[in-house]
Amino acid sequence: MAEKKYDVVIIGAGPGGMTTALYASRANLKVVMLDRGSFGGNLNNTASIVNYSGFKDIQGPELAEKMYQGATQFGAEYAYGTVTKIEADGQQKKVTTDMGDTFIAPVVVIATGSDHRKLGVPGEEEFSGRGVSYCAVCDGAFFKGKHLVVVGGGDSAVEEGIYLTQFASKVTVVVRRDVLRAQPMLQDEAEKNEKMEFVFNTNVTEILGDDVKVTGVKTHNNKTGEDGKISAAGAFIYVGTVPMTAPFKGLGVLDDQGWVKTDNEMKTSIPGIFAIGDVRETPLRQIATAVGDGAIAGQEVYQYIKGLN
Ligand code: NAP
Repeated sequence: MAEKKYDVVIIGAGPGGMTTALYASRANLKVVMLDRGSFGGNLNNTASIVNYSGFKDIQGPELAEKMYQGATQFGAEYAYGTVTKIEADGQQKKVTTDMGDTFIAPVVVIATGSDHRKLGVPGEEEFSGRGVSYCAVCDGAFFKGKHLVVVGGGDSAVEEGIYLTQFASKVTVVVRRDVLRAQPMLQDEAEKNEKMEFVFNTNVTEILGDDVKVTGVKTHNNKTGEDGKISAAGAFIYVGTVPMTAPFKGLGVLDDQGWVKTDNEMKTSIPGIFAIGDVRETPLRQIATAVGDGAIAGQEVYQYIKGLN
């Protein structure tokens, strides 16, 4: 248990948090990034990134490592811990972690990103880790030569479905509407992939399994009303994201869906508390937008702290 003083405490060491750390430490501020896991955030669950400028195709963990090297080159620190509370009492903010550590600073940057949304059907929780997965990069290799189901129709479902075809014999993507939401480029790539199959207008209503593992999913066609079943060894769920803002509920800075509200300078309604990246109420959630937010926040926290002196 320790109490440490900084100029800037960044909660979350994903692409956004690491960029703010780079900018703020380069401006000679004393900066720490707190994270409940390894630096990189969702980059660590992403196999191939082809839409981040400067790289034709880079693996998520490799980009995370490069960003971390950049973020820490001017002295920014990284500390492990899950943030449980922020107290904003006037100018000083106090951030507490589950390790019992406290971090005091005039500026806190919320960069906690988003987590996968649960499908919320019977069997999902029961078979989580036994065939139900939310991370193709982590679990895909366990399914060599098997038939897999992916649930969802956004960028994640299609991109991760394509990734899974390198292991699986077939990947069936179950989409609740009659169209995909994913970017056209990903849709084109999926259409050309002989191992990918799409089932539209269909909801997954239950994850089926035996005593040990997933054996398939129950489906309901929402156009014809027909119920069905798809046999599969695994179900990868990609039905969107939810903000990781539970510790910040009491601050009054969230919208009604839990995303953090900011202005264009990444400022929340509380002076000295900023938010960036996927956790923010924003029309686009990409690595590039998180990095852009992080750069703006880096500049703005410097101006804010200068104004206090
Ligand atoms: P998303 O864009 O919100 O898409 C969620 C998908 O799941 C939609 O097809 C949605 O259907 C479906 N869905 C939601 N609830 C469902 C339910 N209960 N049952 C069945 N289907 C359900 O989420 P995402 O794909 O995880 O992407 C999140 C953000 O990250 C997006 O901004 C995305 O652009 C970004 N991202 C970008 C990349 C990239 O640039 N390469 C890769 C991954 C993610 P409806 O369409 O009917 O709502």
